[in-house]
Amino acid sequence: PPPLGAPPPRPEGPRPPRSSAGPAPASAIPTRPEGAGPMRSGPPQGNRPRTNAGDDDEAPRVARRPGVPGKATPSAPRPGGGENAGRARLTVTNALEDASERMRSEASWRRRMRRMTGHRVTEQKEKIMRVVTIPETITIADLANRMSERAVDIIRMLMKQGQMHKITDVIDADTAQLIAEELGHTVTRVAESDVEEGLFDAPDAEDSLQPRAPVVTIMGHVDHGKTSLLDALRKTNVVSGEAGGITQHIGAYQVVSPLGGKITFIDTPGHAAFTAMRARGAKVTDIVVLVVAANDSVMPQTVEAINHAKAAKVPMIVAINKIDLPDARPERVKTDLLQYEVQVESLGGDVLEIELSAKTGQNLDKLLEAIQLQAEVLELKANPDRLAEGTVIEAKLDRGRGPVATVLIQRGTLRTGDIVVAGAEWGRVRALVSDKGEQLSEAGPSTPVEVLGFNGTPEAGDRVAVVENEARAREITDYRAHQKREKQAARLGAGRGTLADMMSQLKAGAGKKEFPLIVKGDVQGSVEAIVGALAKLGNDEVGARVILSGVGGITESDVGLAETSGAVIIGFNTRAHKEARAAAERAGIEIRYYNIIYDLVDDIKAAMSGLLTPELRETMLGNAEILEVFNITKVGKVAGCRVTEGRVERGAHVRLIRDSVVVHEGKLSTLKRFKDEVKEVQVGQECGMAFESYQDMRVGDVIECYRVEEIKRSL
Ligand code: GDP
Repeated sequence: PPPLGAPPPRPEGPRPPRSSAGPAPASAIPTRPEGAGPMRSGPPQGNRPRTNAGDDDEAPRVARRPGVPGKATPSAPRPGGGENAGRARLTVTNALEDASERMRSEASWRRRMRRMTGHRVTEQKEKIMRVVTIPETITIADLANRMSERAVDIIRMLMKQGQMHKITDVIDADTAQLIAEELGHTVTRVAESDVEEGLFDAPDAEDSLQPRAPVVTIMGHVDHGKTSLLDALRKTNVVSGEAGGITQHIGAYQVVSPLGGKITFIDTPGHAAFTAMRARGAKVTDIVVLVVAANDSVMPQTVEAINHAKAAKVPMIVAINKIDLPDARPERVKTDLLQYEVQVESLGGDVLEIELSAKTGQNLDKLLEAIQLQAEVLELKANPDRLAEGTVIEAKLDRGRGPVATVLIQRGTLRTGDIVVAGAEWGRVRALVSDKGEQLSEAGPSTPVEVLGFNGTPEAGDRVAVVENEARAREITDYRAHQKREKQAARLGAGRGTLADMMSQLKAGAGKKEFPLIVKGDVQGSVEAIVGALAKLGNDEVGARVILSGVGGITESDVGLAETSGAVIIGFNTRAHKEARAAAERAGIEIRYYNIIYDLVDDIKAAMSGLLTPELRETMLGNAEILEVFNITKVGKVAGCRVTEGRVERGAHVRLIRDSVVVHEGKLSTLKRFKDEVKEVQVGQECGMAFESYQDMRVGDVIECYRVEEIKRSL
């Protein structure tokens, strides 16, 4: 490794002269060549006046003491003299308190020296060698901090290496290590991801585990009654007399089963586009309730739900809904499910099934019982006595309350005052609110709670963990925020693409057309769902590229980004701020609002279809053979031909074929019959033809005439 500069210049360099001045004014005496006597007002504070009675200083000083400043001051024109002269002006009383005065002066003298030398004096303290932790990249300021060195010195060392840096610049770990070692510190290198180590999944002792409530997700095809069922179950709970009354929508809620156990339901909206969320939901889920309408049986999203549950290895309970309807055929549902390897109990399988009606409330209690029974089989347990861990189910920015995240606690107990991290956000828990709107002081395993106090809005699906202190929280979130930024930058950059991307695009032809979008939504869940749905749109020719997505209103900066990237802004259940609206109008940026994901996706699909290059379809019109080529002044070459097949039309596309090889492709510029310009010439007739910017036709060539139609394509 190249030697990194000399050690800091402190030990030598400018110090000697200064330090010689430092200790005491007395030492300054020898530095004055001669004539010092009369002007030695310098060390009045020295103890010489008394102890060194014989000093030649004595005379002037004594003379001054009576308080004749006029005499002393002019005799001290040198720097420093003024200050001392000031002291000399002190009254007799002060002079008599010589000792204390001297102390103070020396201290202030030292302070002054220190100021002048830029704190160099502190260097005299013993240097502490530290073990410096160096991450993959570090700013110079941070490195200096960790080593307790001055950033200027690091910059100087780098400069000696020919690298100019500012204090805020980021240097890599290798350089940082060289610097640290050069300065005599010991280095431990860490990978950035180390900060996450031990954050999650520290194992619990077997005996610390206690039973917990099951977490249930309801899945099923659209309109099969997921929302109705969730609502109905929530109401059962109110009827059962739990305190609090009406539950509020926080993304999850708890009910008590008729058997007495608590059950937690994840309450995500049932929409096709929420598959992404639901897939994540399955990770926090212990049991999936698959809702199938008895009058509709198994539908695509039913199958999707079955696959999700199977992939997550989560047991399923089939809720055959709408049995109140006359056309309900629960038996058909059961047999249909067999196709997807779901064998219900009544058909000899092990999947519990309940026939119920969310509308009339029939058999809802049986469903709750079945869930509890299934949960008992699963022996769900968690340790409540540890730092809490959980998952963000839903998060939003509340106007009054700030970022609000609904967190499902999975292990441990979350308390107010805890420091939590979730994704790239952290915060101190200010309040915990239950699904009944009550303030809680703590929340144990399987409890869904709204957590207030995050510094920013985390994302649905983010894992939540309590950490020991703010520093740790910052460290983790800084790292994650950094990662997120890099990912975003990578995504933004993806438009330009890596060389490999470009190559593959070149290979693919004209390259992929992109439809840049900025998506803002009311809650993280919908934004995620929209982004997911948009990602699925398109083909290898066009695609939607979401350059920014987030929760909240549309801001001026969103508009700015749209302007630079040429993106369309989409607001889902959210609106543009006034300034943003004005800015968008100014810049001519389109902002579209939606409240239904399907509409949004359909619109974007239609818009993207417009980007598809239309399909070109050729219609063969006819062939003609060149019999003679005339050279006509001003017009150029004209071919005299006979139409041998079909017809030829003016303005049509033509190919010139010579010995079965296409030698030219273009358009007809003239089509003449005798002297007249005509629109078309039928088979058997003779005509004169000229090409647009092509002259080299020969007798015997065949002219193929065709029309090109553009056919709009759609995704
Ligand atoms: P989701 O799309 O799966 O959430 O379905 P919804 O809960 O929105 O229900 C779709 C429709 O089915 C609504 O009109 C409900 O009123 C109706 N519905 C739900 N459950 C029942 C039921 O048990 N019986 C009857 N007759 N209708 C139901």
